[in-house]
Amino acid sequence: MSDCTVTCPSCGTANRIPIDKEGKNGRCGNCQSPLPPSYCHPQQLTDKDFHEFLANYPGPVLAEFWAPW
Ligand SMILES: [Zn+2]
Repeated sequence: MSDCTVTCPSCGTANRIPIDKEGKNGRCGNCQSPLPPSYCHPQQLTDKDFHEFLANYPGPVLAEFWAPW
């Protein structure tokens, strides 16, 4: 997977987010404002962490459900 880009809500600068920092709070490289945590790649959740993820994530979430049977 590759890095992703998060646009600063304060100044509009596109900030490159390394894959290992995905989902963490960061700061804009231009104006130092806090950046919202973002995910650019699918996250695999289970019934144990799904509700906690939704409760703590500030942005929109697209969920795909599947089962092995
Ligand atoms: Zn900024």
